[in-house]
Amino acid sequence: MPQIRKLPVGLVNKIAAGEVIERPASVVKELLENSIDAGAQQVEIAIDGGGTDLIRITDNGCGIDADQLELALAPHATSKLASSDDLFDVRTLGFRGEALASIAEVSHLTLRSRTASSDSGYELRCEGGTLEPIKPCATNVGTSIEVRHLFFNTPVRRKFLKAPQTEMAHVVDAFARIALAFPSVHMTLTSNDRLLHDLLPTERWVERIRAFYSDEIGDALIPVEHADDHVRIRGYVADPSVSRTNNRLQFLFLNGRYIRDRSLQHALGEAYRGLLMVGRLPICFLQLELDPKAIDVNVHPTKIEVRFADSGALYSRLLNALRHKFLTTDLVAKAAVPDREPSTLVGAGAASIEPVDRSASGTELMTWARQQSHALPAARDIHFDPVDPRRVPDFRPFPNFGGRTDPFVDPANPNALAGPTTSNTQSPHTSSPDPLLGHAGITGCQVLQTYLVTEDEDGMVVIDQHALHERILFEQIKAKILSKSLERQRLLVPETVHLAPSEAATAIEAKEMLAEIGIEIEPFGGDTVLISSYPSFLAKMSPAEMLKQILDTLINGGKKVNPQDLLDDVMNMMACKAAVKAGDRLSPQEISALLEQRHLYRDTHHCPHGRPTALVFSRQQLDKMFKRI
Ligand code: ADP
Ligand code: MG
Repeated sequence: MPQIRKLPVGLVNKIAAGEVIERPASVVKELLENSIDAGAQQVEIAIDGGGTDLIRITDNGCGIDADQLELALAPHATSKLASSDDLFDVRTLGFRGEALASIAEVSHLTLRSRTASSDSGYELRCEGGTLEPIKPCATNVGTSIEVRHLFFNTPVRRKFLKAPQTEMAHVVDAFARIALAFPSVHMTLTSNDRLLHDLLPTERWVERIRAFYSDEIGDALIPVEHADDHVRIRGYVADPSVSRTNNRLQFLFLNGRYIRDRSLQHALGEAYRGLLMVGRLPICFLQLELDPKAIDVNVHPTKIEVRFADSGALYSRLLNALRHKFLTTDLVAKAAVPDREPSTLVGAGAASIEPVDRSASGTELMTWARQQSHALPAARDIHFDPVDPRRVPDFRPFPNFGGRTDPFVDPANPNALAGPTTSNTQSPHTSSPDPLLGHAGITGCQVLQTYLVTEDEDGMVVIDQHALHERILFEQIKAKILSKSLERQRLLVPETVHLAPSEAATAIEAKEMLAEIGIEIEPFGGDTVLISSYPSFLAKMSPAEMLKQILDTLINGGKKVNPQDLLDDVMNMMACKAAVKAGDRLSPQEISALLEQRHLYRDTHHCPHGRPTALVFSRQQLDKMFKRI
């Protein structure tokens, strides 16, 4: 019969540590929260080696009495809860009393502390859960905790750690979440002796936000304020002209605690509905204050998720507060500011990057927003893409076979269909009015500005122009990358890109891979990188935006072990971005060029997303449909 045994304390603590302490950033989070709970006004954090070598945090909080030091490291020991009633009225960040015990179990920990009433400080060391005797030490009032060699005795955990830069990026994220929640606390963060952040105490929240994020975000913030009997909502949402493809810049703080909450994030998305392009997500920094009795924070080991007594009410309050704000805010002025100056790029593609004049869409948005009633709006996608002017809908009659210069094709670079490098640019037929003369090869026409119709030996073929072009580009990019012959342009003025900490870390880590695909970057201090060269075929797109998209692809695909799969993802994305879109009017030469390429690749029946690129209607099918047979 199997024996039932009580697990040894050390093992229990290691198991608990597994839940709470996943990586260095979790240690930073727990220790910082303790400092805040101790009433510290100043907290210094020093990190070495992304946190696996050293995490040191020094605060000027209330300190711990010498006779309590051992208890502080004991599991389930806390000064923050006295009875089970308190569990439903938590006003501190911590309360489970397991963080220090967990950290001490899986590291070499030194705890030094001194209270205001004591003449001396005291020091307690713990190595993998084994305590050493307490001894006096010289230290200021407050607490200092050093955590070295994290996970030294849990090799499996250690194996899952990423490169130091990546771990550091997570540390910065954890730091930012708490620094944003407590702007009145002076906080510094140092990594390998380099000062990353020195955040002076401030009463202006926006100052703290600006310390972490770019001016682009800082300048786009719209203040939000709402208060009723149940909840107070304060903070900022970003103007819809500034958004992201992920929700990492959606900050919700509940009574000072950073939380993620699907329902509230949904409310946020709902409030922006129709104001953002499909696939873009809003940015927000919002503080919610609720009676602690109306929340259960004890549902998640790291408390990042909470349960609300009445989440429905909170949802509608947030939604209504934001809607009200949008209805009374003039979004036009901000939306009309061009995102970037043209001509940062050298070379033919340079002039083609025009900021789209979005004042028109801005006005449209405002009118739309003002018409909103309190009812849910109908779903609607408004496409205004700051980067690719060709996306602007074109309402001219179809199909224009005049062969004139296409206003959406850059005159300096008539081969706008980057990819089909057939002779059409040099061709004497470039301005031929007759598509049939344009190319000796395949002819066809464009319908609905989306499909190409042609015939081949199987019958009539209808081709999705975007899917086909994307496929062609994908193959070409792949071939060029493999043969290391991808054309790139040096940027005369390197472009600075402000990234989120995790993006910056990913960028640096992927530097070589990025160079392979033609994007050369250099770290430029903090979370900023410089782009110094860029693939020519992407000239129509903003390097910064493209880099962010690639990083997104890398971060989201982070679980793919095979670098080739990751590279495939990135190439797919680039091909998709560079390809003509549904709605792009094509010149006859471009149509021919595309159709010609179709025969160069064997597997063109499916685009990289797996959708068909072409439908074939055989003679027999057509005859049948027309009841000829
Ligand atoms: P919890 O925060 O859930 O109480 P911890 O294991 O994080 O559990 O900390 C245990 C106890 O140690 C706390 O309740 C607190 O009394 C004390 N403590 C930890 N860090 C500090 C600090 N920086 N300053 C003062 N006291 C601290
Ligand atoms: Mg704690």
